[in-house]
Amino acid sequence: MDAAETPPPLTGPSPTRTIVLYGGSFDPIHAGHRHVARACLARKDVAEVRFLVTPQPPHKRGRTLLPLADRVELVEAAIAGEPRFAVDLTETQLPPPWYTFDTLRAVRARVGPGHDVRFVIGADSLGDLPKWHRAAELVHETNFLTVPRDPNESLDAVFDRLATTFPADDIARLRAGVLAVAPLPISSTQIRDAIRGGRSIRGLVPDAVAARIAARGHYRNDVTG
Ligand code: ATP
Ligand code: MG
Repeated sequence: MDAAETPPPLTGPSPTRTIVLYGGSFDPIHAGHRHVARACLARKDVAEVRFLVTPQPPHKRGRTLLPLADRVELVEAAIAGEPRFAVDLTETQLPPPWYTFDTLRAVRARVGPGHDVRFVIGADSLGDLPKWHRAAELVHETNFLTVPRDPNESLDAVFDRLATTFPADDIARLRAGVLAVAPLPISSTQIRDAIRGGRSIRGLVPDAVAARIAARGHYRNDVTG
């Protein structure tokens, strides 16, 4: 082959890979969380989903959570054998209080410019965004992935309300970041309540998580709600 026929190089600039950060207290992780994480992975731009387990969310200050190490152990049980799921413990290296604004800046600095970092937010929290720490900057510099939780809720109405707080460009990006996934309305509160009340959590959490919770006796005498 002469020089004129030299084929183009096989490796061009590598495409941006998306890292999805799924933040929460995961007290405990449940089937709804895993359902959302799998739906994120189904997007072809997504390289991995990281469960960002927070030591203590600022909006749950009054509640005692299961210790972080135990919650992380349950997340690890839920994601075992799924190589594109990971636990992200960035917040353990940051001082409290743990605000999403600071955490996302820390994660972005660590992963560098080759990755697009997206942050999952459940539709139940979306309407509260104006109350989050440094809300205007957070919404401006974050690419959210919004996930529906309740089949009866209208995200449109929430976006319309948010439009009275945030600029139109940011609202347009937020709207474009809605993840097309069927809602699976399960909550950690429901699971803690079931265990405290002696009811089965079968099907509400991955089997490995149910086994670990039972073996450790988690939540049985939980008085914190
Ligand atoms: P709790 O009842 O203790 O508040 P939770 O079920 O809401 O627990 P979190 O750890 O608070 O779980 O949630 C972490 C993130 O996952 C939040 O953004 C939340 O909105 C989202 N989320 C939780 N459960 C679901 C679900 N079933 N479907 C979609 N998103 C969910
Ligand atoms: Mg919650």
